[in-house]
Amino acid sequence: MSNNQIRQHNGKPQQRMNVMTKPIGPACNIDCTYCYYLSKQQLLNYDKGCKPTMNPEMLDRYIRTYIEQQNFPEIVFHWQGGEPTLLGVKFFREVVKLQKKYCPPGVIIENDLQTNGILLDDEWGKFLAKNNFLVGISIDGPEMIHNTYRTNRAGRGTFKQTMKGVDILHKYNINFATLTCVNNVSGAEPLAVYRFLRDVIRSPQMQFIPIVEAKSFRDTAPQRWDDAEMLFQGMPEAEPDHPDSIMEAWCVSAGQWGDFLCTIFDEWLNEDIGKVNVPYFEAAIEAWMGRVNPLCTLGPMCGKGLAIEANGDVFACDHYVYPDFKLGNINESDLQDMQFSEKQQAFGYAKESTLPDQCRQCDYQFACFGECPKNRLLKTHTGQKGLNYLCAGWNKFFRHIDPYITLVVNTMGHKVYKKINRQAMQLKLK
Ligand code: SF4
Ligand code: SF4
Repeated sequence: MSNNQIRQHNGKPQQRMNVMTKPIGPACNIDCTYCYYLSKQQLLNYDKGCKPTMNPEMLDRYIRTYIEQQNFPEIVFHWQGGEPTLLGVKFFREVVKLQKKYCPPGVIIENDLQTNGILLDDEWGKFLAKNNFLVGISIDGPEMIHNTYRTNRAGRGTFKQTMKGVDILHKYNINFATLTCVNNVSGAEPLAVYRFLRDVIRSPQMQFIPIVEAKSFRDTAPQRWDDAEMLFQGMPEAEPDHPDSIMEAWCVSAGQWGDFLCTIFDEWLNEDIGKVNVPYFEAAIEAWMGRVNPLCTLGPMCGKGLAIEANGDVFACDHYVYPDFKLGNINESDLQDMQFSEKQQAFGYAKESTLPDQCRQCDYQFACFGECPKNRLLKTHTGQKGLNYLCAGWNKFFRHIDPYITLVVNTMGHKVYKKINRQAMQLKLK
């Protein structure tokens, strides 16, 4: 097929959509210190302590339009929170019923569900297995690490409860992935975290999320920061452990992030390549082959995944659920119109168009693209704003893996794509 041909489904151009669905808004049964979503309760004006729930009419409309507005052989629903399992199995039985009702012939509908695992029991296990849900389970590492920030409202760690959820996933042979937040504590223990996920949890896919939040994150959207308060890269106040830091104390530092990824990469390369799936490493291979990075954070564009709240409000991205970035409400506007609106397109293209020169001249722009704009908290040494807080860590990681990924890609028989010419390196796996 030529590059100019548009892929077809049922004789029409293919049309896809991805929406992170928050059927219970930010409501959660625990109270993780670093959660970026709990504070949406105030920001979105939900009543204090209420559990906003997508009502039956809204759920019906959402499922119908999400299916109708896509023309693709596979439609994926993403259920997140807050904690979506608070809605009970009954709610998700209704979800599956509605999906069957509106599913066109020849289309497969899939579901993924992100959970802290605490409420998973045999009833959930049977339901998730029967309906082939992919479950993302949040676990930060061994007990001491997990319990540092993943606590209940009484401040007690939730490790044991989450492990019961993991047991249910194994018992019912449910397809799952782990989601591990990398903070100032877990960031210092890369091998303990990785080996725990590999050997104890037996995680089929390890997603690592760097925790990066400026102190102002609860009410100020990224890119709405005061320029005058933006720090230069390398300033001590950008380190989370500085007494006057602009960052929350629980954040991973850029240096930790680089070391975390490099250390895990070395173990993965020596022991587990081909056996353990770490999306960052798989994505690097794609990037080095010149393909579009499958991870939005490291790709050239934002805006392909919207977020919908329990009341039907739609936002530019799960990380931009702020009033400024609201696109509309499904009671009043089409999802598709919102996805392709000028506002959303501008949001999408800004990821690349607002890169500072330091990124444009970087050896690894093709693999990084300035990472997620929500983390672009710093100024470059020349005073341009919009440099990623994790830049030093990402740069270290890309430089570290470059010779190995080059070798892996060459071994696969592909030509390595890079935007620069550099001296040949000693390519030798340890
Ligand atoms: S803002 Fe971040 S998470 Fe959202 S689409 Fe852009 S890169 Fe992805
Ligand atoms: S490594 Fe740093 S300079 Fe290079 S593209 Fe990423 S954020 Fe920009």
